[in-house]
Amino acid sequence: MSSCLEIAYFLEASSATVAGPYDVSLVEGSITTIHDAERIRAVRESSRTLITIGACATAGGIQALRNFADVEEFTRIVYADPDYISTLATSTPISAHVNVDFELNGCPINKRQLLEVISAYLNRRRPRVRAHSVCVECKRRGTVCVMVAQGTACLGPVTHAGCGAICPAYNRGCYGCYGPKETPNTASLDAWSGLGEHDLVRMYRTFNAGAEPFKQASEAHERS
Ligand code: SF4
Ligand code: SF4
Repeated sequence: MSSCLEIAYFLEASSATVAGPYDVSLVEGSITTIHDAERIRAVRESSRTLITIGACATAGGIQALRNFADVEEFTRIVYADPDYISTLATSTPISAHVNVDFELNGCPINKRQLLEVISAYLNRRRPRVRAHSVCVECKRRGTVCVMVAQGTACLGPVTHAGCGAICPAYNRGCYGCYGPKETPNTASLDAWSGLGEHDLVRMYRTFNAGAEPFKQASEAHERS
């Protein structure tokens, strides 16, 4: 029986590769070096559909914390011989460099959402990945709201669904690992949270610190 799906280039799984062009390319990781920036343009040219997966590829990842700081200072502190380090001053999502057909959020992503996205593009239809908040998933599984019941800070109202609201189900607030939902109202959440400016900056500066709504929210609190 022949397969309807051929994996062409996945070095972690096999050293055997197939030359492009490709129907669908799934890209992880952010752009942090000149080489990355050149390579993603080549990937884009050889791909009919380009999908980015995970917080690094969609938002710059935790390494985007450098965007708010001095990268040379970081390398001096971290590496014994910083002169060997060749890096850009920023870590940016793939969409800042090339056109992206779909971004799948999450750190890590949800495998069912990934299968849905691959299936949708192979069948030339729109993926059914909801852009609502984690709060909706929380309500669906009948979890008591940790923010209302216990006063625990929770980024669920502004965070993209996909995890099934795992953290509140274990009595923890959401820390936003799925990145921003569609049209997040961060100002309303921040007023509600009871957190001070310093804590709000830290809340928004994790894996998705470079995602535009979270970036703007953290910068606004930093200025306050
Ligand atoms: S616990 Fe968090 S994610 Fe769940 S409903 Fe409350 S605010 Fe929303
Ligand atoms: S941090 Fe938020 S988005 Fe991430 S797994 Fe926990 S509840 Fe889900």
